[in-house]
Amino acid sequence: MIPAAFEYFAPGSVAEAIGLLEQHGDEAKLLAGGHSLLPALKLRLSQPGVLIDISRVAELHGIEAGDRLSIGAATTYAAIASDPAVLGGCAVLAECAGQIGDIQVRNRGTLGGALAHADPAADLPAVVLALDAAIAVQGPAGARSISADDMFVEMLTTALEPNEVVTRVTFPVLGAGEGASYAKLKHPASRYAIVGVAAYVRLHADGSVAAARVAVTGAGPRAERQHATESALVGSAGDAAAIAAAAELAGESMEYLGDIHASETYRRAMVKVYTRRALEQAVARARG
Ligand SMILES: Cc1cc2nc3c(=O)[nH]c(=O)nc-3n(C[C@H](O)[C@H](O)[C@H](O)COP(=O)(O)OP(=O)(O)OC[C@H]3O[C@@H](n4cnc5c(N)ncnc54)[C@H](O)[C@@H]3O)c2cc1C
Repeated sequence: MIPAAFEYFAPGSVAEAIGLLEQHGDEAKLLAGGHSLLPALKLRLSQPGVLIDISRVAELHGIEAGDRLSIGAATTYAAIASDPAVLGGCAVLAECAGQIGDIQVRNRGTLGGALAHADPAADLPAVVLALDAAIAVQGPAGARSISADDMFVEMLTTALEPNEVVTRVTFPVLGAGEGASYAKLKHPASRYAIVGVAAYVRLHADGSVAAARVAVTGAGPRAERQHATESALVGSAGDAAAIAAAAELAGESMEYLGDIHASETYRRAMVKVYTRRALEQAVARARG
């Protein structure tokens, strides 16, 4: 399994990477952790003539804590899973990153690569949607922000324009009365999500549900919000019966994928089960 020949560049800045993307056009691909791109190259599913390695661009690294957490696109899952600011302010993100693949994948795979690649079985898109994260990108036309709701368009397709680079992703810092959880049915070998559900809730002082965001990954061609579940939960007491009723509505209007690992019918059933589990834990965490 040897990839076709390619030219390799290691730019020192995002601006330099964008310049190289413009210069080489359709021939060029960004390389981050390589854990989706390199298998595709080896299988010759993708044969770019030019690889632009952004894994060592300093401005794409690091986790900054403030009103929101700002995480550089080239930050690895392992760094996210063990970061004190993430564990303290947005623990569900560490919970999710810590469940991706195995230690080799977590040491190389990056936040920006996962979001840009938009694999239907990727974990992080669900958390990004449930937490309403914002994806900062930079391209030839300048910088802009893509909301989580706009990012995942179709299977392996995002709202990124040609020659745009994901630079940072910002997440909320959760406070009192807020809770979030990620529950996943994992493929036993790769650990990709057969079904993964991220849930976020905010509670009123009386314990009823003020806000909810739920997103499913793995089951369909792209990670997707579950609006019916969210609407059913908001205004409810957030008790076991309300959660169970809301979870039953999950996945009803989704398109499903079926493969040798799990049929469409099985995924449909598991979406409801994992939605209930994620919501139960998110509410329990919000109650402290
Ligand atoms: C054995 C194995 C198990 C895995 N298990 C899981 C799992 O359980 N859960 C899971 O979610 N994933 C899993 N993965 C996939 C892994 O998370 C990949 O790392 C991820 O999909 C891509 O991130 P990357 O940094 O490796 O990107 P790369 O492979 O380097 O790039 C992927 C794509 O994104 C583009 N890209 C990369 N960075 C940027 C950027 N900053 N801006 C714009 N475009 C960019 C590249 O051009 C390329 O098209 C697994 C992979 C392997 C090999």
